[in-house]
Amino acid sequence: MTLPNDLKPSTIAAQAGGVIDMPSGGVTPPIQPSTTFVRDENYALVNPDNIYSRDNSDIVRIAENVLARLEGAEEALLFPSGMAAIAALFRTLPNGATIVVQSGIYWGTTKWLRDFSARRQITLHEVDASDATALEAACSAHTPGMVFIETPSNPWLKTVDIAHAAKCAHQAGGLLAVDSTAATPVLQRPLQHGADIVMHSATKGINGHSDVLAGVLATSAPAAKIWTDIKADRHDAGAVLGPFEAWLLLRGMRTLPLRVAQMSRSTQKIATWLKAHPKVADVYYPGLESHPGHDIASAQMSGGFGCLMSFLVEGGAAEALAVVGKLQLFHRATSLGGVESLVEHRHTIEPHTGIPPSLIRVSVGIEDAADLIADLTQALG
Ligand SMILES: *Cc1c(COP(=O)(O)O)cnc(C)c1O
Repeated sequence: MTLPNDLKPSTIAAQAGGVIDMPSGGVTPPIQPSTTFVRDENYALVNPDNIYSRDNSDIVRIAENVLARLEGAEEALLFPSGMAAIAALFRTLPNGATIVVQSGIYWGTTKWLRDFSARRQITLHEVDASDATALEAACSAHTPGMVFIETPSNPWLKTVDIAHAAKCAHQAGGLLAVDSTAATPVLQRPLQHGADIVMHSATKGINGHSDVLAGVLATSAPAAKIWTDIKADRHDAGAVLGPFEAWLLLRGMRTLPLRVAQMSRSTQKIATWLKAHPKVADVYYPGLESHPGHDIASAQMSGGFGCLMSFLVEGGAAEALAVVGKLQLFHRATSLGGVESLVEHRHTIEPHTGIPPSLIRVSVGIEDAADLIADLTQALG
């Protein structure tokens, strides 16, 4: 059973796209751990969809159906991590290709792309894609086969005009892929703005409970060569999500719109409060009118601006680490998008990548915003 097409995201998520397990009648799907599936006496598959669990899994397909519908995509593919999804995307490029990639994005992506490009003779241009003129110039000068942006970006919260980036990529004869992790499909649907592929680390807000590692790619053009190449790569190279993880992910996604709405409301409140705090030098959050990307974010996101935010404290590394050390509710841990609030001192983790020593990155969870503000109040002193 699948739900009608015109339903809102909360309805699709709550009912997991309309899944009822038959013949049991269960309102949640079972976990099928089998790696192999039988054939009948005439050697026909008992279920033509299932041969071997490297790429044949009912529960993975159910989760992908929910993701595709939330994203407004024709198809979605799950991977065992966000990085596995990114790797599958870039492995479709021929040796010697040229790519334009947003600078200052998730460090894991930048690091892997630099290594991968060097190995495959790919020319990598890192550009501040939040600067529309710079992106346009890079696309016309280098005619990249792929443009990759991340909006809002992690940890700078820079926003990129997706429709404009799509135009730049397409005019250069390339494709646009968007890492939309910080927004989740609830707040931003890059395919509707012209992106060819949207990517998420589902480890973050999509699962939302800090207990599953997963990644997703989605498209509105499943017949395109890049998509058939990605599908073949996943099937043949085997970067697949296991059934237990897919089941947990599906369960987490049932409350995705609810969680994202609450987290966005709290983050907006906390960002506004921090902005007025005398010990805070600056706040990076696209929901603030003072943010340089506020107008773009308002135009291409709806329902809020997400749970990710960074701020600069007055002083340097010592002052920032002192605040981080005093926090009692925010867990000092990497990652984002979970129900529990997290705080990170990125400069300690990646000291040579230009992250200011006074920068504190926060992922706001679903706790009461007043409790979180009280915690920040005592920590800032
Ligand atoms: C975490 C993250 C990734 C990588 O995802 P994993 O699931 O950790 O492999 C990619 N992009 C962004 C923006 C992320 O936050």
